[in-house]
Amino acid sequence: MTASSFADLHNDLIDHITGLPRYAAALVEIPHLARQFGGDRTLGVMVIAAAADPGLYRLTPEAGHRLRADLTGQLKGLLRPADRLYSVSHWEWLAVLPDLPSSAPLQLAMLKVDGHFIDPLPTIQGRLAVRIVCGGAVWPDDGEDALHLIQSARIARLMAEREGHGHALYARAMERADADQQNLHSELQATLAGAPGLSLHLQPQIDLASGACIGCEALLRWQRSNGDQVPPPHTLAAIERLGQRGAFTRWLLQQAAQIQHRLAAAGIGISLSINVSAHDLLDPELPDLIAQSLATWEIAPERLLLELTETLMVEETPQVVDVLQRLRRQGLRLAIDDFGTGYAGMSYLQRLPVQEVKIDQCFVRQAEESKKDREIIAAIVRLARRLKMDVLAEGVETAGMAGVVAELGCKRAQGYLFARPMPVDDFIAWWRDHQGHPVLWSGRGARKRGRPRKPRPA
Ligand code: C2E
Ligand code: CA
Ligand code: CA
Repeated sequence: MTASSFADLHNDLIDHITGLPRYAAALVEIPHLARQFGGDRTLGVMVIAAAADPGLYRLTPEAGHRLRADLTGQLKGLLRPADRLYSVSHWEWLAVLPDLPSSAPLQLAMLKVDGHFIDPLPTIQGRLAVRIVCGGAVWPDDGEDALHLIQSARIARLMAEREGHGHALYARAMERADADQQNLHSELQATLAGAPGLSLHLQPQIDLASGACIGCEALLRWQRSNGDQVPPPHTLAAIERLGQRGAFTRWLLQQAAQIQHRLAAAGIGISLSINVSAHDLLDPELPDLIAQSLATWEIAPERLLLELTETLMVEETPQVVDVLQRLRRQGLRLAIDDFGTGYAGMSYLQRLPVQEVKIDQCFVRQAEESKKDREIIAAIVRLARRLKMDVLAEGVETAGMAGVVAELGCKRAQGYLFARPMPVDDFIAWWRDHQGHPVLWSGRGARKRGRPRKPRPA
């Protein structure tokens, strides 16, 4: 090798901004370090990288170089003298920790790095919050050669970032879980594009005085090709991860309008509630999308009720209020779901154009035993009355619960006592069965089946 080619090779192995050896050097040194200590000692590798962030990409090259050098200095300070630090790419480092008795010191080192970068770092363009995420892997269990070992640490880091953690140690299950998630995602994508699997089930909402069904809530169901039912929150989280929220909202609105059309054709003139997520309300096109779906299926807007969660209301912004007001002007009805669990309270209820409050299941479930929960329900009922809103109790499973909520002034209820969510055809059959035989519950204020009390005017 000539003197100049040796210098070139050396240059290639050193990163000049940080002064650290590069990735290629780590590939050469790891097997050497692993062999050197051998016996029952092990070696750990830690991949350390900044989570993708627009603020990092917007740094000028000069500010970026300074920040990299600064982060490198801090990382060096967190490692033992025997540990080796390498620069892998712009915002990624690799630490090799030789001569370890077990994986525990590697875990500790990751915890230390994770805990260190909490405060925003000063840059020449101002302070920047850099989120550092680490992944660790141990030789030889997680990889017998350097490349495989580093890959394992990178997988662990990726999983930590995805799950919102600061660090993770590699486990084989991470790759299996990932393969499962890939399958889930591709199946969901196909379903959103029209393949069968996704549907809306309907759960009746009952007027407690008359026993009549006055509405129904549409709840998402996804049955996978292997027959598994995916819980709605998991399906919704996967939709978010895929960036398919817009496609899902369009699907939901079309389905809802189509269901209302089928109900009307069956002679069922009740309102249909659908759940909308926080992000949907940030979309200024939502009112137009809804108007289009309703027009296509010739549905009167007051037949659709949008359920919004209370926590969402806390993040109320002028855009959200504008979207809500436009929806209201279009004639749609709005309900606050899971009321009592968030922090919204009265002032929000007063400001928002809402017509219904749904008391969360957690208060209803305990209502018979817990005086405190009964007081909460009574307070919500009083508040809603003053604001001229309807109140519905969710999750009513027993006649006892129905009796208590009715006594506390709730006029409407929904829950397994009356019916579970069911496919649209089953709902139509259920409705026909109950027409003329309102859903009666026994308990306090109970009436006998077949002798319904005269419905009170709403
Ligand atoms: P949620 O809107 O509060 O819906 C009520 C949940 O309570 C439903 O669970 C329903 O099946 C269940 N439920 C009804 N009656 C009873 C009862 O008597 N006892 C008990 N223990 N549970 C009862 P589900 O269908 O699993 O939905 C869970 C959540 O997923 C919903 O809570 C809602 O937040 C969300 N979700 C469902 N469908 C959609 C959708 O189309 N869009 C959006 N954004 N969210 C949805
Ligand atoms: Ca709901
Ligand atoms: Ca709810």
